Amino acid sequence: MTATRLPPLARADSDLFAAARLRAARLQPYLASAVFSLVPVDAPGYGTFAVDRHWRVYVDMEQARRWGVEATAAVLLHEAHHVVRNHHERAARLDVDGSTHRLWNLAADAAINDDLVGEHLPLPDPILPRHLGAPDGGFEEQYFRRLLDDRDARDHETCGSGSGGAPAPVETSDEPADSGVDGVDDVDATAIRRAVAHDVVTAADRGDRVSPGLVLWARDLLDPQVPWRQLLRGALGRPARSVTSRGAPDWTRPDRRADSRPDFPRPGLRHQSPEVAVVVDTSASMERPLLDAAVTEINGMLRRTGVTSLTVIVCDVDAARPQRVRRLGDLALRGGGGTDMRVGIDAAAAGRPRPSIIVVLTDGYTPWPDEAPAGTTLIPVILDDAIPMPSGPGITPVRVGGDR
Ligand SMILES: [Zn+2]
Repeated sequence: MTATRLPPLARADSDLFAAARLRAARLQPYLASAVFSLVPVDAPGYGTFAVDRHWRVYVDMEQARRWGVEATAAVLLHEAHHVVRNHHERAARLDVDGSTHRLWNLAADAAINDDLVGEHLPLPDPILPRHLGAPDGGFEEQYFRRLLDDRDARDHETCGSGSGGAPAPVETSDEPADSGVDGVDDVDATAIRRAVAHDVVTAADRGDRVSPGLVLWARDLLDPQVPWRQLLRGALGRPARSVTSRGAPDWTRPDRRADSRPDFPRPGLRHQSPEVAVVVDTSASMERPLLDAAVTEINGMLRRTGVTSLTVIVCDVDAARPQRVRRLGDLALRGGGGTDMRVGIDAAAAGRPRPSIIVVLTDGYTPWPDEAPAGTTLIPVILDDAIPMPSGPGITPVRVGGDR
């Protein structure tokens, strides 16, 4: 397939675009490599800017002239954030479609704009989290959830396919870009995102002002990609081994070495198995294959550490119901979000015998306690790529992803 040749901007437009782009790179230097990768496409009369998933930014330069360089720079940063944060793919992962494009676009805009407005950038008419009835500093996916429950959200122009919203009417084509000429292909986009993430982390470590959400995104992207099965085994294995190795004196079983020292009968060590509780979020937004994979891994791990029975607490909006089972079985997912896993964690911690390990299987859209309940290791197993992971004393989170 041949890539579309894009006509260059007219001279005066091109000068204004260059000035705004330079200004944008000065305002958020860690975004410079992204801002300079955007390919402008003239969109006269469109009334605003949009970006497609091939990093083409559609610019109405008449509108830019009315905005001025400073506001145009802010808008360019806004569009760059859409593609840097990979909104297109994140929307696809949530099955955003024609009926929810608008809501996702609003969520993505709010997540970008609270950072930009926080840095006093003069965005024209920005959508902010408070317009969605949400607090600042949240993630796109959280805002989107909230909007799904409240579809009367205000009307909104699309920011284009690069925002994960509907394609803008001015988008030229969905053809893969001839990278560096009329867009950015997926391989280059990944490289640019890594470069930006690196610059974000460097800036934050230096003490520069960078939005906390962006830093979280960057650290997550740069995280070494350790396979989740290995992490889960480690998370479960460590506390399990510390219980089994402690053992308990058992006078009914003589020490196997006793025959070498016949005068001193000694107790053997009874093999102690850890008490494990698993709290399961039954929200239907959990990905079935990931849940099944995590359950298989946990069952195998518990068998290897000698756990013959565990408490399962099914946690949904109504209640947390503990039950005693031999292994994690088929779990039924129910609809509805809004589950609070802290209720299930409290129910688990109150169980007798008291668990030393509490595993939580969830999509991550829940508040978390600040620390693990006393005497327990809390292992949140998050079945979502995008949601930030909880942290705190005694908490060892594991993210279960599709391809890792
Ligand atoms: Zn936008």
